[in-house]
Amino acid sequence: MRQSWIIALLAVSLLCGCSVLQGGKLLAPESFGFTQVAPSIYVEAGADKTAGSNLRAAVNKAEEAIRLAYGTVNSHPVVHACITEECYEAFGGRGSVAKVYGDRILLSPRGLNWHFLAHEWSHAEMRSRLTLHAGWHLPQWFDEGVAVAISEAPEHSESHWQFLVAANVPRPTREELHTFKSLRQWLDAVHRYGEDKNVQRKAKGEPEIRPVYSAAGHELRHWLAEVGSPGLLALIARLNDGEDFESAYQKSSQQP
Ligand SMILES: [Zn+2]
Repeated sequence: MRQSWIIALLAVSLLCGCSVLQGGKLLAPESFGFTQVAPSIYVEAGADKTAGSNLRAAVNKAEEAIRLAYGTVNSHPVVHACITEECYEAFGGRGSVAKVYGDRILLSPRGLNWHFLAHEWSHAEMRSRLTLHAGWHLPQWFDEGVAVAISEAPEHSESHWQFLVAANVPRPTREELHTFKSLRQWLDAVHRYGEDKNVQRKAKGEPEIRPVYSAAGHELRHWLAEVGSPGLLALIARLNDGEDFESAYQKSSQQP
């Protein structure tokens, strides 16, 4: 038991490199103000009764989306839903809508829907299928793009991408997207393309923009539609065999 806690905390620190102690509190959610509403679902205490049932429905829909993309569902993350921003911040969730800590998903009050659940779940599912080595070398843009495509979140949708194109909003080219390999490179790009300034845009009545997530979604949406779950699983198998990502991706893209 103790060892699994240590492994979970280690996974947390590897994945985020931040907010480790706050995220670690999710290992004992009921000690920190969450109420269990289903075996793997916790809601911040004080939520109204509909929150629990809405969340159960969202979890079911997200699980279906994961099954559709990956063929089967390997990971069964525990879901923690915050109904206040204070709760989300207390668990290390600043500056995002949802987070995944190993096999624990944390939702902010802005992310209480199946889209954000499926997005974070895809990260957990991807990790569950990769060896440590393959997971370590998985490019961030690919992990995010698959999550975006699976989650169908309107914020990163194809129509948002088309809006960015029509409005001539600066956005990464396909070649540039492939250079966002590490989490640091990804976050730098998110900052460079102004994707972290949406609170200010909203305050000024301007449309929000998400060029980096949408670029990843745009590429992977088409790729997934083309290769389906057999193609995704073939790519994962190649990565687990130690193949270089770009070569494995190319080969999987050529699959019938
Ligand atoms: Zn993500």
